[in-house]
Parts: sequence; structure tokens; C-alpha cells
Amino acid sequence: MATSIETQQRSWSRRVRDLPVGKKLFSGFLALALVLGLVVACLFFTVNTLGDANHAIVGVAAKRSELSDHLRFAAADLRGAQQAYVLEGGTSRQQFEEATSRFESTLDELRLMLDDGVETTLLRKIATGYQTFLSTDQLIWNAMQQGQPTLATNLVLGAESLAFGFMAEDAEKLSMHADLDRQAAVADFQRTSRSARDLGIALSALALFVMVLASLVITRLIRDPLARVQHAAERAADGDLSASADVDSDDETGRLARAFNTMLAKLRQREELLLGDHRRQELQTQVYKALEMADDEQAALEVVGRTLGAVLPDRPAELLLADNSKANLEQSVVSGPVPDGPGCPVNSPFSCVAVRGGAAVTFESSRAIDACPHLRDRGGDPCSAVCVPVTFMGRAMGVLHVTGEEHALPQPVEIDALSSLSAQAGARIGMLRTMTRTSLQASTDGLTGLMNRRTFQSRIRAMRRGGVQFSLVMADLDHFKRLNDTHGHEMGDRALTTFCSVAETMLRQGDLMARWGGEEFAFALVGVSPRAAAEVLDRVRLELSVRLSTSDLPGFTASFGVVDASACDSLDDAVRRADDALYAAKASGRNQVLVAGAPSATEVHTPHHRADRAERSERSLQPQGVLATLALDDDPLD
Ligand code: GH3
Ligand code: MG
Ligand code: MG
Repeated sequence: MATSIETQQRSWSRRVRDLPVGKKLFSGFLALALVLGLVVACLFFTVNTLGDANHAIVGVAAKRSELSDHLRFAAADLRGAQQAYVLEGGTSRQQFEEATSRFESTLDELRLMLDDGVETTLLRKIATGYQTFLSTDQLIWNAMQQGQPTLATNLVLGAESLAFGFMAEDAEKLSMHADLDRQAAVADFQRTSRSARDLGIALSALALFVMVLASLVITRLIRDPLARVQHAAERAADGDLSASADVDSDDETGRLARAFNTMLAKLRQREELLLGDHRRQELQTQVYKALEMADDEQAALEVVGRTLGAVLPDRPAELLLADNSKANLEQSVVSGPVPDGPGCPVNSPFSCVAVRGGAAVTFESSRAIDACPHLRDRGGDPCSAVCVPVTFMGRAMGVLHVTGEEHALPQPVEIDALSSLSAQAGARIGMLRTMTRTSLQASTDGLTGLMNRRTFQSRIRAMRRGGVQFSLVMADLDHFKRLNDTHGHEMGDRALTTFCSVAETMLRQGDLMARWGGEEFAFALVGVSPRAAAEVLDRVRLELSVRLSTSDLPGFTASFGVVDASACDSLDDAVRRADDALYAAKASGRNQVLVAGAPSATEVHTPHHRADRAERSERSLQPQGVLATLALDDDPLD
């Protein structure tokens, strides 16, 4: 019951609050006018009614008083007329009868106007007295008729006087009582008038109070919601977009508040988006700067790891990158609470759904029918996953892989951040790889993989600057043109790589070997004297012949010129001297090692060519100063 009353009250207050502001004002003022009208009408009616009633009462009282006086006077007249007709011998009996009729009519009138009470009793006594007076008067009149004036006079002065005395006394009392009544009625009238005035004042005050109260209620009904909207608007103007105008009525103010709240909600959304964009851009800028500072792939991978840790600190994450063969994916970065990362077993880029599709993919649950097979077969608890491909210039490089609890994918902004990281990481790592490849290509020879002449020269210069002692060797394959012409260019290429492979096995840590150009090579044998270098090179020649004997390649040999680089004035001087020694070796029959030294000294190592040594040395060393030649085998192509 109480609840239904409360509900009704709420619905009423709801209805009042929902009234349009105009209607609220109109109905408020109408109510005030009604109250005012009602009060005025009540006052008018009350004053009127009271006035009429009092007028009637006072009028009756006055009339009674007047009649009572008349009765008193009529009684006196009656007595006077009686005495007159007795004294005059009955001649004025007529006047006495007129006096009796006036008295009786006054008595009748009074009888009609009197209620019960003192006056009625008095009137009754007067009537009784009057009857006695009349009876006595009859005796008097009879005495007069019978010629007994003395009897009549005695009766008038005796019994009649007594009867009249009582009646006159009662008439006097009645008159006085009626006069007192009249005075009381007048006093009542005055009192009632005062009460009516007081009531009027009280009602007016009440009406005023009601009107003020109603005005306050109407004002509050309109002002309070408006104040709430104003307060919210001021907070919003100060930059507090969480403000809200708490008005639930359905009037203009309520609708204004709701529109304002909706506007603020949209502004909040817009601000969220802008903040999200700002954060994303800030993260992108930070990642960009960090990756810019990463000089190599390892440093770039560390940046990726740090960024993953910052974006999704609570989720296992990993970067799987394709190796140089582009066939295998390897875990390159791990981040998050699990030491081994999500551990996706995918092993080739094209087994990865995200890489194949070229776009980020999400999996709500590893148990779902359409979950990635690698995710499903991974074992462990069911999980969700996000896979973002890492590409460089449209080519797949790997995948960023993040897992989490089942049905708990990262927020869209976090997935955006992952996509952005993947794009930036792909771009940087791809570029670093390209740079590495390009600089390798620029510094190495494509066929043999050896450093090229320019790189060799700069390394040698650095070694000389560092005071490193080394022997410089220039090598040239013998009659290589003929080999090419006879067996083809491809076979020539294989011969070149075979020579490199054999020579490399003879080098020690720190030694350098370069392709000088065509079928010419240069060596720097660190910490090795020219003589010891010659012995190394002899072993190269020997090993070459052994290797060729077991391969399908045609036989070929090489000639070498050796110089002590630390004894030369410059690199150019050293190269020139080694070259001279090489040419001398060629001239001496090829397939041998010649050491350039003091211009005066010459040493021959090869027993087979011992006979020619003097002549070759003479020919080749005169300008260059070659010291020694060494030939283990005959040139197979000669
Ligand atoms: P010599 O014993 O006097 O050095 O005679 P040669 O024939 O070796 O010397 P020449 O300078 O006449 O010829 C060098 C040949 O090496 C010419 C060229 O066809 C060959 N050559 C240079 N570079 C390559 C290469 O990369 N691959 C192949 N197959 N041949 C090359
Ligand atoms: Mg050559
Ligand atoms: Mg040659």
C-alpha cells in the first residue's frame, strides 16, 4: 500500500517535472490566481453572510426592544385611559378600548418575536396580568354602568392598581431585558465583524503564504535543473569533459541536459580517439627514433623486444623472422611473462596464415574450429592470439605473435600498435639487411665471396697504419684464357672458386685474401716473413694439384709474387713489387713463387727450374729486384 502511494507520488512529481517550462509557469500562475480568487470569494461570502446574519439578529433585537418599549407605553396608556374614563364617568371608554387593542396587538407582535426564555416568561406574566387587569376593568366598568363610581374608583385605586402594578413592572422588566438583548446583539455584531476581519486577514496571509510557497516551488522546479546544466557547462568549459548535467525530467531543461550530455560523451569519445592517436604517434615516433639508432639487426630486434614489453607487458609475445634463406622462421625476440614466449611452432613464412594473408589476424580461441592449426596444436591451456605479418617492400619477413587468455584479445589500439611496430620493424630490419647485403656486395666479389680490391687496399692500409708486419702476395692463374677457351667460361668460374677454396684453407686467422681482378688474387699473410709466405704458397700450389686430381676440373696452376710489405715505402710500392715478382714468376715458367727482396739478392726454390732461374731472374728482376723463385710442378696447361 505504502509502495503504491510512493509510486503514485513519484509519478505525480515525475509528471510535474516533465511539464514544459511554459506550462509549468502557466499552471503555476493559474494556481496562484485560483487560490487568490478562492480566498477573495471566501472572504466576500463570509463577510456578506455574517453581515446579513448579524443585521437580522440586531434588527430582531432592536424590534423586540422597541416593541417592549411600546408595550410599556401601551400599558401606561391603558392605565391612563382607564383612569380617564372612570374619572370622566365613562365618556372616554372608547379611548380605553383603543388602548386595549394597541396593547393587545403589541402583545401579539411581541409574542410572535419572542423565543423561550426570560422574555417569554415575562410576556406570559404580562399577558396574565393583563387578563387580571381586564377582569378588574370589567368589574370597574360594571360598577360604572350600575352608577357606583365610588366602587369603580376604589377598584381602580385598589385591585386594579395592584394588577396594573404587576403588569407594568413586568412590562418594564421586559423592556429592559429587550434593551439588554439589543445591546448584546449589537455587541455580538461588532465582535463578529471583528472576527470576520481577522479571518479575512488570516486567509489573506494564508493565501500570500501559499502564493509565495507556490512561487518558490515553481522557481525551484525551473531554476534547479537549469543551474545543474549551467554548472556542467562551466565545468566542460574549464576542460572537464567528465562533467554531466544530472537532470532527468522530460521538459525543455531535461532535453537540453540530455543533448548537452550526449555532446560531452561525443567530445569524450573524440578526445579518447585523439589521445589514442597521439599515444600511437608518440609510440611510433619513439620506436622510429630507437630503430633509427639501431645500427644492426640485433639492435633493431632489441628495440622490438622493448616495444613489445611496453605495449603488452602482460602477454607472451615473440617475433619470428625468416633467416637468410627465407625458408625458415626463427624466434628472434621474446617478450612478456613467459621466458620462451608464445612458442608458435610455425617454421616457414608461408605456413603462417598472417604472412600468407599479408594482414593481421586474430584468434579468439585456440579451440575454435577456425583457429590457426599452429595455435591449436601448440598444447598448453586454450588461448587467444594476434598474428601480425612483418614485411619489407611487400615481401614477407616474419610475424609478430602475441598470445593471451582465451577470449581476451588485446584492445584494438594495442593491435594497431602491434601493426605499426611490425611495419616499422619490417622496414628497419629489411633496410638493415639490404644495407648489409649492399655493402657486402660493394666490398666483396660476387663469384668467390672474397673481398674485392678496394676493400683489400683499405684493409691493408689500415694494417700498415697499425704497424702490422705482413707479407703481400700477388697471385695469377696460369694460362687461364686458354682454360676458358678450351673448357668454357663456366668451367673457368669453377676453377676460380676451387683455387679460392684451396687458398683459404691455408690462411690463418687475421690473414687476408682478395680477388684483385679477373683471375688475379692478393694475399696478406700477417706476421709471416716472405720466405715463410713462399712456403705457405707452395703448399697452396701442392694442395691445388691434389684437389684438381680428384675433381672433374681441368688441371691449372698459379704463379705468385711475394714481398715484405713492411719493407716497402707505400702500399703502391708493395703492390708494384709483388706484381713484379709475379711477372717474374710468369716469365720464369709459371706455377711458382717468387719473393721480391733486396734488389741485389735472388733465391731459387724450384729444382725443376733451377737451370732457368738465372735467366728468368735476370729478365724479370732487373727492374724490380726479385729475390727468389720456387716451382714445385710443371704448369699442366703448358
Ligand atoms: P697468363 O698465364 O700469362 O696469365 O695467361 P692468361 O691467359 O691467364 O692471362 P690473360 O690475361 O691473357 O687472360 C686472362 C683470362 O682470364 C681472360 C679472361 O677470359 C679470364 N677471366 C677473367 N675473369 C674471369 C672470370 O671471372 N671467369 C672466367 N671464366 N674467366 C675469367
Ligand atoms: Mg692475369
Ligand atoms: Mg693468368
